[in-house]
Amino acid sequence: MKQLDEYNGKTKFIIVTGGVISGLGKGVAAASIGALLSGKLKVVPVKCDGYLNTDPGTMNPTEHGEVYVLDDGGEVDMDFGHYERFLNVVARSEWSLTMGRVFKLILEKERRGDYLGHTVQFIPHVTNVIKEHLYRVATKEKADVLLVEIGGTVGDLENQFFIEAARQLSHEVGQENCMFVHLTYVPIPNGVNEQKSKPTQMSVRDLNEKGIYPEILIGRCEEYIKPHIKEKIGLFCNLPASHVISGVDVKHVYEVPLVYEAEGVPEILLKRLQIYAPPKLDVWKKLVETLKRNQVNPRKTLTVAICGKYTTLEDSYASVVEALNHASAHLDLRVEIKWVDTERVENNTDAVAKSLHGVDAVIVPGGFGSRGIEGKIQLIQYVREKKIPFLGICYGMQLAVVEFARNVCGMKGANTTEVETETFKVETPVIAYLPGQESIKEMGATMRLGGHDVLIREGSRAEQIYKSRQIRERFRHRYEVNPEFVKILEKGGIIFSGKAANENIMQIMELSDHPYFLACQFHPELKSSLIHPAPLFLELLRAADERP
Ligand code: GLN
Repeated sequence: MKQLDEYNGKTKFIIVTGGVISGLGKGVAAASIGALLSGKLKVVPVKCDGYLNTDPGTMNPTEHGEVYVLDDGGEVDMDFGHYERFLNVVARSEWSLTMGRVFKLILEKERRGDYLGHTVQFIPHVTNVIKEHLYRVATKEKADVLLVEIGGTVGDLENQFFIEAARQLSHEVGQENCMFVHLTYVPIPNGVNEQKSKPTQMSVRDLNEKGIYPEILIGRCEEYIKPHIKEKIGLFCNLPASHVISGVDVKHVYEVPLVYEAEGVPEILLKRLQIYAPPKLDVWKKLVETLKRNQVNPRKTLTVAICGKYTTLEDSYASVVEALNHASAHLDLRVEIKWVDTERVENNTDAVAKSLHGVDAVIVPGGFGSRGIEGKIQLIQYVREKKIPFLGICYGMQLAVVEFARNVCGMKGANTTEVETETFKVETPVIAYLPGQESIKEMGATMRLGGHDVLIREGSRAEQIYKSRQIRERFRHRYEVNPEFVKILEKGGIIFSGKAANENIMQIMELSDHPYFLACQFHPELKSSLIHPAPLFLELLRAADERP
């Protein structure tokens, strides 16, 4: 069979599904299993999503969480954030497979004539395309392990073709090369005060009906799963009790690989797939200990305000929150986040001051559109004048430039052309379309996306922070600092300390008469990890920590 021909015969497949309810943290569970193996083995994560968007790039973050941007420019599910942070890999767009992309591939093949003479059907054509893709990634990446996460919950109509493809794949590569891990829920209902195994049994039965027999069950639970409940689940689901793993609630996701290690996951993988790579988690463990200690007995607590319009769903800024956690572990302190909804403080100086009362550092993260931006601009003015450490990210940098242009350089009509409408034109467009963006009509994957080099100015704060004159960071934007205004803004006191390598794009700005006022056109949070925190976040917290 053609798809199987593409299989290299070496890759082991670990397929992660979820049951009972959504939101149990399948991405973290899959990434944590990967973290146990990635010390020595090449673990490549693949995420299968049942929705029909080609990628999540055009989805509202309050609906689907943050859009994560890869170095190659792919806009992918936020689970890739966990993968990159846990597995120490630079992921690629093709590791993300949505049903939208599957259908696109099929229709392209059909038009090309690949199916000439045949009726194109869900089985075998859809499942074949999925398998083909998985084998191709495994082979191309020379993966020791392909970690396949199937989005959604078993029983959802929209992911059933991924599940069926995985079943076929496990049959084709043989059971010594493939195993299923299922994440379920073990509730402790109020008043009953007992761990309940029935939802897990039902959800495994659902999988069994589809011909899949999971060999590791991870039960999300408020507490460790009791031995007799593990026995019971094992009995009904055809597993040794030792294969029932406690997915106990933890404060920081970075504890999860350590829990799985203690629960014996590496030994099961060794026994079943003959893969073993002693987890190299020493530094990780130490940092997790610091995070945990600061949770109960902090050396110091810093309050960081994140000011945006998507504050109703904290997952919209998932990587920003994680980057703060990473930096806090290295500085031995606790970060408390204060969410400031910028629409609610707009044109109300008291509300601005009140929302930042007692705040040690402020972040204005990325965003789009005109809603809430005047609030952001007023908050930025406040932190600039009151000398509160500030980090602006993407839209946060563009609005910091607008604020400076208006209030320091005296350009009252300064704004970004992103707020323009048919009837409203910006008087002084200090932020404007990147070259070529104006004529783009299609919205999907058309921004300036992915990793680009940033050249850093000698003697700048940015150079001190990065300890380098050239770095690489990830971008996702349509607008930029308008080159026509750069001189005048510099004259006013802005230092553009980071520029694009081959284009005239301002990528970092800083102010000198301030303890920490830095803003960047890129998203530094996307490259932050527990072991290697993003320098701009680390220094933001250091500045806040050292503030008298
Ligand atoms: N809306 C701005 C732009 O498109 C900023 C984007 C962002 O913050 N990611 O340039």
